[in-house]
Amino acid sequence: MFANLKAIASVFILIGIILLLAEVGETFNLYNAPYILIIVGFIFLVISSIITNKEKSLLCRIGLHKYERLGRDIEVPAMFIYKCKRCSKQKKAASII
Ligand SMILES: [Zn+2]
Repeated sequence: MFANLKAIASVFILIGIILLLAEVGETFNLYNAPYILIIVGFIFLVISSIITNKEKSLLCRIGLHKYERLGRDIEVPAMFIYKCKRCSKQKKAASII
């Protein structure tokens, strides 16, 4: 069910963006419908991530991890290994600095 909520949220955001880009508001009076669609879709996305993800921290559940650099990847030296301070999730990424 919550997987559906995510899909619905994505569709809401997509429709909102399309309405904005197509400037439908100049032809039809939509009031703030595109913005409301995007905001509602975003809220749905956040709610569904909070419910479906299992990390302890709420911020981690919506994807806002607090990464710290652990070291270089052994296989690909250009990549660094990062680990989230709160939920211990690891990711590999090229260095920004
Ligand atoms: Zn995290």
